[in-house]
Amino acid sequence: MTTFDYDLFVIGGGSGGVRAARVAAGEAGAKVALAEEDRYGGTCVIRGCVPKKLMVFASEYAGMPDEAQAYGWGIQKGSFDWSSFKTKLNAELDRLEKVYRNLLAGSGVETFDARARVSGPHEVTLSTGETKSAKHILVATGGRPVRPDLPNAHLGIVSDDIFHLDALPKSILIVGGGYIACEFAGILNGLGVQVTQYYRGAQILRGFDDEARGLVAEQMRERGVDLKVGTNILEMAPATEHDPEAETGAMGGTAQERVELTRMHQNTTAQRGPIWVKSTSGSEGVFDMVLFATGRDPNTADMGLEDLGVGIGRRGEIEVDDFSQTKVPSIYAIGDVTNRVNLTPVAIREGMAFVETVFKGNPTAVDHDLIPSAIFTQPEMGTVGLSEEAARDQEPVEVYCTSFRPMQTAFAGKADRVLMKLIVSKATRKVLGCHIVAPNAGEMIQLAGVAVKMGATKEDFDRTVAVHPTMSEEIVTMRSPMRTA
Ligand code: NDP
Repeated sequence: MTTFDYDLFVIGGGSGGVRAARVAAGEAGAKVALAEEDRYGGTCVIRGCVPKKLMVFASEYAGMPDEAQAYGWGIQKGSFDWSSFKTKLNAELDRLEKVYRNLLAGSGVETFDARARVSGPHEVTLSTGETKSAKHILVATGGRPVRPDLPNAHLGIVSDDIFHLDALPKSILIVGGGYIACEFAGILNGLGVQVTQYYRGAQILRGFDDEARGLVAEQMRERGVDLKVGTNILEMAPATEHDPEAETGAMGGTAQERVELTRMHQNTTAQRGPIWVKSTSGSEGVFDMVLFATGRDPNTADMGLEDLGVGIGRRGEIEVDDFSQTKVPSIYAIGDVTNRVNLTPVAIREGMAFVETVFKGNPTAVDHDLIPSAIFTQPEMGTVGLSEEAARDQEPVEVYCTSFRPMQTAFAGKADRVLMKLIVSKATRKVLGCHIVAPNAGEMIQLAGVAVKMGATKEDFDRTVAVHPTMSEEIVTMRSPMRTA
């Protein structure tokens, strides 16, 4: 019988990899090793969900003094200190990374701070030169942000860079209309940065419910984001190298004034300097910074996978079956590297299902149906199930929808609006989709997600007594459909 160094070698110490490693070792008693070339915790903890959400919190305080004043508080607006926030943020990330390391150590997982490459169906070669054998290999290497194929694209930053900025820029152009672009547009706008956003399509957040994303876009503009749809970057160059006679930009003023502004902003833009941009609509502008939030690609480059016969898809994703197994039976993959549903809780579920299947003798396919999720835009959007557009393509539906000014901000004279929407199957009465645009929509959709996942009907929602006075009570009090389709 062949003996291996380990029962399982996990490559990647992000949410999915760490969970699979520690459950395989801790609960199933497997001998497990894990290699991570960067920081433990991966994208979510180190350069994604966690620091992003803390930045959302930081940015939301911007609107609070006004509201507090309207409620009678003698509170004054202060200024935001990026460097003090960043110091605290870094300390928090250090703490979380330690937690992840301790979780692995506590479960008996051996860790290697090294890059790993798959050098055989049962073999991993580390950047230290060591070779390790394992009965099973789990690839959980995640993804990375990509810049568009555009001359001078290197002048722009990507989401990973945001958390390392020495200072916030005065102005930024964000390119993209997905989760990351829209979330950072809200965050940076709240922190006082002048935000312009270009999205090449007709409406941001493609794939989500039209009415919900329409309200998010409207409210983002209302709060000060200069959102331009149907627009992309045509050309970009360092502002100092570009012929300055021709135009005025986002900074405004003449070329001479721009040079002056450039000098003033030297501190904030020390890394790259201001950038001149020409858009596809013909407008030109100069921005302190350009952020590309134009998607993420799976991390499979130079992993040795294709040579072994592991199937790799068009975007570089590892092809797997319902049990996360690749074409090479001893090699599995979970999380963003498989480009299925790129969310931390999904990667964790995939990791758990992998352990059930391989180490607990309980073949478990990953359930990717009806995954609730939130987009931390301002206002937030929470969603589960089908959009109105996708649902009506599938079957006849009733649409229940209400949009209103919530009590808390309406009292303070703000123009904020929220949206609650249910898509209901005419045939089965089941709620096929629930979409909420509101403060804390993420918190609400988690709970609505339980009902939708259980197959609740509209009548089940109706039977539930409202919690009053709340925003979410509307979800159980919408009596007549707004339209049928
Ligand atoms: P997305 O794929 O969501 O969005 C990419 C955006 O960039 C789209 O608007 C796309 O336009 C646009 N784009 C792509 N290529 C170009 C180009 N060459 N020029 C201009 N625009 C371009 O990626 P993100 O990077 O925003 O997020 C990656 C993933 O991370 C998400 O899919 C999500 O799974 C996850 N995530 C989840 C979060 C959450 O749960 N809250 C938060 C952040 C990330 P088009 O629509 O036309 O294709």
